[in-house]
Amino acid sequence: MPIFWQCDRCTACCRWPGQVTFTEAELTRMALHLGLTEEAFIAQYTRVNAQRTGLALTDQADGSCVFLDGADCRVQPVKPQQCRDFPNLWNFPGFEKVCQAKPVDVSPLEWKQRIAQATGRVDVPDPV
Ligand code: SF4
Ligand code: SF4
Repeated sequence: MPIFWQCDRCTACCRWPGQVTFTEAELTRMALHLGLTEEAFIAQYTRVNAQRTGLALTDQADGSCVFLDGADCRVQPVKPQQCRDFPNLWNFPGFEKVCQAKPVDVSPLEWKQRIAQATGRVDVPDPV
């Protein structure tokens, strides 16, 4: 049975080191959501990514994502796909030790339905 990881919104994944990247369409949506021009959004909230191939969101002084506000994401309705996809469509060895998501056994059909709802994807892959 596939496992669906049910997020409990502990926000740990918004606090640990790493980088949040985004597409041009996501940049447009986040800027609109915040009432900013894309130029202002880029200037205020982005930096060159570690690979120097594009942009990533900046961090706050404690290393958390610039958009983490207490237990909330300031761009929640339009947050990048990278954020939506974790931990079901990407994760890393041992992620269960730092992520509070609960494993739920589901049927392959329910897994795809839950993934579509959690990630907003219309192109949900089959469970592995
Ligand atoms: S995906 Fe995991 S680490 Fe991120 S908010 Fe949900 S439970 Fe917490
Ligand atoms: S954009 Fe939102 S969900 Fe993504 S890391 Fe930042 S605070 Fe977390």
